[in-house]
Order: sequence, then C-alpha cells, then structure tokens
Amino acid sequence: MGTCEVQRTTNMDLVLHQFDEHLLTPYVYPETWLEDDIIRQALSLFVITLIGADLMYLLLASFSYVFIFDKRLTKHPRFLENQIWIEIKATLKAAPYTTMLTVVMFLIHIRGYSRLYDRIEEAPFGYWSVPLEVVTFLLFTDSCIYWIHRGLHHRLVYSTLHKPHHAYKITTPFASHAFHPIDGFSQSLPYHLYPLLFPMHKYLYLTFFVMVNFWTVSIHDGDFRVPEFMKPFVNGSAHHTDHHLYYNYNYGQFFTLWDRIGGSFRDPSSYSGEGPMDQILNSEKLEDFMNKKQDFIEEKISLTAGYKRQDSKVARRR
Ligand SMILES: [Zn+2]
Ligand SMILES: [Zn+2]
Repeated sequence: MGTCEVQRTTNMDLVLHQFDEHLLTPYVYPETWLEDDIIRQALSLFVITLIGADLMYLLLASFSYVFIFDKRLTKHPRFLENQIWIEIKATLKAAPYTTMLTVVMFLIHIRGYSRLYDRIEEAPFGYWSVPLEVVTFLLFTDSCIYWIHRGLHHRLVYSTLHKPHHAYKITTPFASHAFHPIDGFSQSLPYHLYPLLFPMHKYLYLTFFVMVNFWTVSIHDGDFRVPEFMKPFVNGSAHHTDHHLYYNYNYGQFFTLWDRIGGSFRDPSSYSGEGPMDQILNSEKLEDFMNKKQDFIEEKISLTAGYKRQDSKVARRR
C-alpha cells in the first residue's frame, strides 16, 4: 500500500477502516475493488451498520428488559398481547430501510463533506473543543429532534409515519427502536447533521452514536426513577411514557427545555402518583379489597344461614 493510499484510508471513517484492514480487503472483496470505491463503501457500510445496529438494539434492550424494566407493567390493561414480539418484529423489519438512509449520511461523512477531525491539534479550541462539542451536540440535537418529533405528530403525516411507534402505550425497552423507517431516520437526522455543520472529534462522534442508543432505550424502559435534582430539566422515561399515553406532550429527547418553551410540557403522571405503575397497584389494591369484601359477605351469609337453621330446630322442639 502506497503513502497516498495510507493518507486516504486514515481520513476515512474509523469503523469502516478497521473492517477494511482486518477483514474486507484481505478476505472478502476482490483485490481489484478499491477501498474508496463508493459502491464498495456503501455495501460495506450497509452490512456493518445493519448487523451492528440490530445487535446493539437486541443487546441493550434485552439487558434493560432483564435488569431494569419493571415486569409488573405488563399487567397494565393497555399493554398489548405479545407486545414484546410485536416491538422486536417491527424494529427488525424496519432496520434494513432505516440503514439504507443512514448509509447515505455515513457516505457523505466518509467522502469528506463532514467537519469530523481525527486529532485534537485539528480542533478549533484545542482540548476545550471537546466539552464544548458535548454541550452543543446535546443542545443542537435535542432542539432539532423536538421540532421533527412535533412535526411527525402533524395530522398529514402522523398516521403513516409516527403512529406505528405510538401503538405501544406502555412501552418496553424493545419499543425503543420500533419506528417506521422514515420516522426513525428523520429523528436521527440531527445526529448526522451536527458534524456536517460543526467541527467534531471522530471518537466523540462515535461515542455519542452509541450513547444515544442507550438513551433511547432508557426513555422506554419504564423505570421512572430520576435523581431529584435532574427532575425539572431531564426528559426521562416518566416524561416519554406520558408522551406515549397522552400524545401531545413531552416531545423532547434529552431535556424538557423545548417542551417548556413550546408549551407542550406535562409533569409526568408517575411523579404525582398517577402513573401506569400506580394504576396497576391501585387496581390490585381495589381487587384485593373487593375480594376481601366478597369473602366477608359470603362468610356473613353462611353464618346467618347457620343461625336460621338453629333457630328453626329450637322452634320445632318447642
Ligand atoms: Zn410521538
Ligand atoms: Zn417512544
């Protein structure tokens, strides 16, 4: 491999470069198919992204389901029959189409149109650039997702694009990626747009790409606990659960900021003891109370019947 080629490959996307170097170039593609051929890049990215995304989804959602998700939520009357399988099937069915759209964005980055950089020396403000990128990436993507998500609730597109994700009123971690492909892609578009507009370190970008998947799973995991100091400004599972239940509230992704500005903020029902878990526990308490009441009435009837029998025996003896 010549110096020119080394230079070219080091500028390419980190993940694709690793796959090319260790697997695809030596073992998969013919020698004549160059690494920077756009069709080869698109094909490689499609396969890597699809397998990676499906595996990450299944692993994260399974981990969250086993260790975090409160299974009592499946007893809620609005929880669908076989819902978990429906969520998984919907996600895996949409994944190839969402990946196709995502690959277009990756190609734009890889072909050199993004402002991603490799080394901290290339950063505009040295090491200070990293925390600045963290804050601006979160604020930029959160703002964009709020408006895109709100737009997806418009009556012209809602039933085709976004309603499938709202089929789940009480979500499990497996609902986190269950979107119509255009819905899923459009809500991830801000993550691709940021590095086209602003400089960003490649490692930070990759880290965020994994972290946002953790976040998406976490707002669907039905774990409504949030540290007290974060409650006013972090859009957690409690907020997103209410979004699935009551539609026009809490469109945000990370923060409650835009919901407050846009007038769509709703204090989560679970914070005031009226969330889905409270409804389940209250109905169980009510059922328990009704059962006890029924037992008490039956006991009283049998006792009364016993007394009556005794009274009639006494009367006959007289
Ligand atoms: Zn929605
Ligand atoms: Zn959701």
